[in-house]
Amino acid sequence: MIAHGRAGAVERRLPVSEYHRGVPGVEHEASAAERREALKKVLAQARACERCPDLAATRKTVVFGAGNADAELMFVGEAPGASEDEQGLPFVGRAGKLLDQLLAEIGMERKEVFVANVLKCRPPGNRDPLPIEIENCQDYLLRQVELIEPSVICSLGNFSTKLLRGDPTGITRLHGRPEVITLGRRAVRLYPIYHPAAALYTPRMLETLREDFLRVPELLALGPPEQPPPEVFAEAFAVPREAGADGAGEPEEHIPEPHQLGLF
Ligand code: URA
Repeated sequence: MIAHGRAGAVERRLPVSEYHRGVPGVEHEASAAERREALKKVLAQARACERCPDLAATRKTVVFGAGNADAELMFVGEAPGASEDEQGLPFVGRAGKLLDQLLAEIGMERKEVFVANVLKCRPPGNRDPLPIEIENCQDYLLRQVELIEPSVICSLGNFSTKLLRGDPTGITRLHGRPEVITLGRRAVRLYPIYHPAAALYTPRMLETLREDFLRVPELLALGPPEQPPPEVFAEAFAVPREAGADGAGEPEEHIPEPHQLGLF
């Protein structure tokens, strides 16, 4: 499968499980400002994305993700629901309120973390994401991880846990068990936990989610895991698809200012 990087450059699109291999390139530690600028470009591309025709035709907004673009802690849910689609922000419905409450219980606020989803567009009728949609959308999430550089990613529920681990093992077996994984050029502490939407309806699950959540500060205190050698930092700033070819990747001066929750 082929994807195009910066103007003219062509890169092979790797399955998530191999994405960490990358391609040798220029070594360059990126500043927070450079990473934020690169994230804006990815946002502009996601907003114009039409890789999934059904989702592009039915969405009201593209829910890219929101929060602190330099967060140590990132959450990855499944896909936007109706409220998220309306507002263009992730986790603003009942599940989002629970997420806020759980964060408050560990002394944190939404503005300190970054929240994203496996899919950036709402599946019609809130159906499950299709495998092809997950594949189409995965570049955006991987770019977000590379550019935000979180130490800890909490995968919320099955879809994000399976995608990020590249393995079909379900959340019931994995919740509450942190592990170090490599995504793109970043090693992160992945911490699978139940999805707040599922916990809303099952008191036992909510209790488990709360217990698991209480361990998040402990993981954050460990700091980032040891990173793989910086082979391809330059490539991390490539825009994931061809600039302009599908309306995505507008010239820099035309990139709309992000409005998502003080994201940048
Ligand atoms: N559920 C999700 O997985 N993501 C959202 O943004 C909202 C609900």
